[in-house]
Amino acid sequence: MTGNLISAIILKIGLLLCLFLLVFGLLTSCVNQKFDSEKIIGVKIYEYSGDITTLFVEWTQLGINTVFVSPSLDSIPSFREEALKHQIKRFLIIPTFFDPNALKNNPELYAITDRGKPAKEEWVEFVCPNKTEYRQKKIAYIENLIKDLDPDGISIDFIRYFAFWEKIYPDRSPLSLSNTCFDKTCLDKFQNDIGIKIPKSVHGSEEIAAWILKNYGDEWTNWKCHTITSMVKEIADVARMVKPSIKINLHAVPWRSNDYNGAIKTVIGQNLVDLGSYVDFISPMCYHHMLKRETSWIHDVITDFFEQTHNQILPSIQVSKAYLQNDLTVEEFEGAIKQSLKIPSAGVVFWNWDAIAASPAKKAIIHRYFKGNIEI
Ligand SMILES: [Zn+2]
Repeated sequence: MTGNLISAIILKIGLLLCLFLLVFGLLTSCVNQKFDSEKIIGVKIYEYSGDITTLFVEWTQLGINTVFVSPSLDSIPSFREEALKHQIKRFLIIPTFFDPNALKNNPELYAITDRGKPAKEEWVEFVCPNKTEYRQKKIAYIENLIKDLDPDGISIDFIRYFAFWEKIYPDRSPLSLSNTCFDKTCLDKFQNDIGIKIPKSVHGSEEIAAWILKNYGDEWTNWKCHTITSMVKEIADVARMVKPSIKINLHAVPWRSNDYNGAIKTVIGQNLVDLGSYVDFISPMCYHHMLKRETSWIHDVITDFFEQTHNQILPSIQVSKAYLQNDLTVEEFEGAIKQSLKIPSAGVVFWNWDAIAASPAKKAIIHRYFKGNIEI
């Protein structure tokens, strides 16, 4: 009798335990699925000198759930603590082949254009993407950042060949765009990798560039794209080795497949299909106002990228004017939000917080869309 009672109690406890584990498991999986399926409402921030708690409270009030942050700002412990407290995910923005300090210390790292000049225009200057030691150092730097700061994601920036695309407008002739990189490192590697020899009769960077583009244009483009994809793969491998759950976002130049005769590959070296297999998100920088485009162009870029890759496409949009004098109005900003959220978008990332903070009206629009009653 007593034995039966004990058995019955043990059975009941066992059943209750199973039920608890089942409910706990379901709840946990729901929470995980929620982060994966939920749209990202993000903001980019590079520097900040105000009160960090206030900043996160404000982001929560606006419905922002992800911050794309510079490693320097994220290295402040209270920034990471507040993010955790407010359940705001942190993606570290990591510039790859844009590195003014490295170029200052070693000008031999400069990529070289088809005009034989260093790849530099105003503030935009690029490292040759085939410098082995530079690549290894950058990957080690990323590995250490992830170990030190334990971010939810990384956001790989300047992962491409040189172009000052911020000032390349719709009427620009494709032939006027610089092609890179024709330094000795790239010329040697290209010849070696595809098994050709540049004739001895062809001299100087300009002549050599013209000869390659004329005779081996497709090989050159594919090889350039491979150079970029291989760097992304190496970064992704090391990032996931350190933290298997880490999310990887890639900043893409917002050129659709046919813009400027396919310059996203020929000039930029971004083959989105190949890149898509190594990252969780592709983020075109859809800064329409700066590029003299309509807001509807934002959705066009997202659609083009999605049709190519079937990846999660996470557009970044601009909040205030850049490079140009005319203002980006509140109405136009709202139009940009609407376009950025249309299917198949994975969310939106605002560039940048300073611009939002400076405009109560734009802040109110964000609040209305992400905390108000507007159906997205
Ligand atoms: Zn090079």
